[in-house]
Amino acid sequence: MSKNVIIIGGGVAGLSSGIYGQLNGYDTEILEMHTLPGGQCTAWKRKGYTFDYCIHWLVGSSSGPFHDIWKETGALDEHTEIWDPDTYVTMRMPDGEDFIIYADIDRWEQYLVDMVPEDRKPIAKMCNDMRKMSSMQMFEDPAFRRSVLDYIRFMIKSGPAVRLFMKYGKMSLYDYFKKLDFQNEQLKKRLQGITAGMEDFSAVGFLFVLLWFSQKNAGYPIGGSMPFTMRMADKYKALGGTFTGKSRVEKILIDGDRAVGVRMADGTLKYADYIIGACDLHALMYDMLDGKYLTPKIKKAFAQWPLFKSIVQVSFGINRPIESEYHTYQVIAPGESIGNTTLTAAYGISNYNHDPEITPEGKCVMKLLFDSPFELWEDLKGEEYRAEKEKIASDATEKLEKLYPDVKGCVEVVDVATPLTDIRYTGVYRGAFEGFLPTSKNMTKTLSNTVKGLDNFYLAGQWLFPGGGLPPSAQSGKWLFQLITKKDKKKFRVS
Ligand SMILES: Cc1cc2nc3c(=O)[nH]c(=O)nc-3n(C[C@H](O)[C@H](O)[C@H](O)COP(=O)(O)OP(=O)(O)OC[C@H]3O[C@@H](n4cnc5c(N)ncnc54)[C@H](O)[C@@H]3O)c2cc1C
Repeated sequence: MSKNVIIIGGGVAGLSSGIYGQLNGYDTEILEMHTLPGGQCTAWKRKGYTFDYCIHWLVGSSSGPFHDIWKETGALDEHTEIWDPDTYVTMRMPDGEDFIIYADIDRWEQYLVDMVPEDRKPIAKMCNDMRKMSSMQMFEDPAFRRSVLDYIRFMIKSGPAVRLFMKYGKMSLYDYFKKLDFQNEQLKKRLQGITAGMEDFSAVGFLFVLLWFSQKNAGYPIGGSMPFTMRMADKYKALGGTFTGKSRVEKILIDGDRAVGVRMADGTLKYADYIIGACDLHALMYDMLDGKYLTPKIKKAFAQWPLFKSIVQVSFGINRPIESEYHTYQVIAPGESIGNTTLTAAYGISNYNHDPEITPEGKCVMKLLFDSPFELWEDLKGEEYRAEKEKIASDATEKLEKLYPDVKGCVEVVDVATPLTDIRYTGVYRGAFEGFLPTSKNMTKTLSNTVKGLDNFYLAGQWLFPGGGLPPSAQSGKWLFQLITKKDKKKFRVS
């Protein structure tokens, strides 16, 4: 008899858990409060336009353990085309100049040296640090499956990267730039612009991101978020998994410190051998479990680790093609406003010209993203909320037209998704769309996928790893079933 498993949440973590569960002979059901799978990795249609919410870059798009997971879960298949951009981002500075962060490290180094030859040394040091990070081996398996030999192999192969980790693992990017001691004031300002508003962002995190781009291992799957998660959902269903939409879980049922089932919002009770929480961690621990099984580490994380700032996405359907020199501009504009939000640093504007599946023939899709503190949103309701969305639509259109004057008069759809939209559709705590921000203090930390004192209950999803994102969310589902199969004395299978 297969054991049955209830998975709360049908985002990437829930889908991945379901797929590895089915592959290993478990009878799983995903209970998802929305109608569709995908969670935050989603997109929507408005008047013939597709507005994508999530994937800008996907770590593991071409190789490595994350790539294996994308293949095993069907998220990427042999037909998925990957677009690798030349640039990571282009910063439009207040003086109107562009500061480009190239995806290729060698090209970026040459660009920076040409711009400020006097800072050749610190530029070379920074780019070499990124290159050294490439020696970092990613573990395919969770810690309990690793042998001493695995660690020895890891230390030998990852030596240069490990040394950097030891040096900068607890350093913020802001301090890292300071330590490099650039002399050119303009370059200093531009580099500091990368971290503006996130002064404690991890230095190591930054080095990794640019390395992945340079290795062409953080590309964009053509079609974007919706086909990506639909491929996972199709694989899950093909393996016999049950996806039940419009099913909100309210409580975890406990019998003598053992999770035995869930109570749905409509009062229905469902029972299973194992319960996996693959939804928002705060809701799971504080609401569904009434705060009874909070571990000191989870308590500390919510008390001390900063969250990703909530965001507003304004999507535009434009009735003519618009060319862009660079796909994404980060327009540096501290102190400017969009609606009630005073920007701490910048807003981003992206053009989807690189994706023919998203950009309709003869048209253009763009989006503007900005951080907006959750405090501005938590009590906003009714008319006030509608008025704020309208103001945002108007301010954002103005900003778009400033960057792209050709757009004037051609915007036929404006769609505003706020932090409250994200919460309504996915329940994410305070709109922290990737969970905990990776900082100098938590970069090397993770949360456990088991809860001390509560048997048969497991956790998956972005909240377990500061930095969140799609790869760790999907990996958490795989690692979980490696643990569960071990407990059940079964051999773990990926196909
Ligand atoms: C605008 C934006 C851009 C992003 N860009 C990138 C990117 O470029 N690259 C990248 O790697 N990551 C990106 N991310 C992050 C990525 O989307 C998330 O880290 C990832 O999707 C999280 O997956 P998850 O399954 O852990 O959580 P979620 O996607 O939040 O899924 C949780 C699921 O649980 C469901 N749920 C919640 N409560 C209940 C309940 N009580 N009962 C039943 N179901 C429930 C929700 O509806 C949801 O479907 C982006 C996110 C956003 C919002």
